[in-house]
Amino acid sequence: EQIEVQRLLNDLLPIVEQHAEQRQVKLHASVQGNTWIQGDSSRLKQVFMNLLTNAINYSGDEGEVTLEFQESENHVTIKISDNGVGIPEEEISRIFERFYRVDKARSRNSGGTGLGLAIVKHIVEAHEGTIHVESEVDVGTAFYVELPKKFTEN
Ligand code: ATP
Ligand code: MG
Repeated sequence: EQIEVQRLLNDLLPIVEQHAEQRQVKLHASVQGNTWIQGDSSRLKQVFMNLLTNAINYSGDEGEVTLEFQESENHVTIKISDNGVGIPEEEISRIFERFYRVDKARSRNSGGTGLGLAIVKHIVEAHEGTIHVESEVDVGTAFYVELPKKFTEN
């Protein structure tokens, strides 16, 4: 299936905005252009919903979440960042494991299972993409999802 990335991301915004509003988190989204990738749109929506939901849930008071889109010649990069609790350096390598949650007490009130990021990573890799994280405790977290562009033959 050929997917226009910006459209896929913008389609998610109404529901994400609603969630952000409930949590009193400010959402900034700047996604413009029309770039095509190849993949499964419902699975990719799941990826970005998971990451945006995490960003909203784990951003603190005066929370701000930003969705950005960048592209290079061969790839698109979707960046989802927040100014929340952050992830300790020694835990970063484990957050993609199934059922792994940093500091249970801290994430208790968000009521998740710890499966989200394991699924995200699995889907991204099935699309020949990569995901990486930059985070600092009490400063915030940024997830980068890089996916190959689709080159049309005509
Ligand atoms: P769910 O299965 O409902 O998504 P979850 O959010 O706890 O549950 P994951 O999405 O897999 O599980 O995330 C794993 C852990 O990584 C979280 O419990 C949280 O501790 C940490 N984490 C994920 N995203 C962020 C973020 N943006 N900021 C800080 N910590 C995060
Ligand atoms: Mg989650």
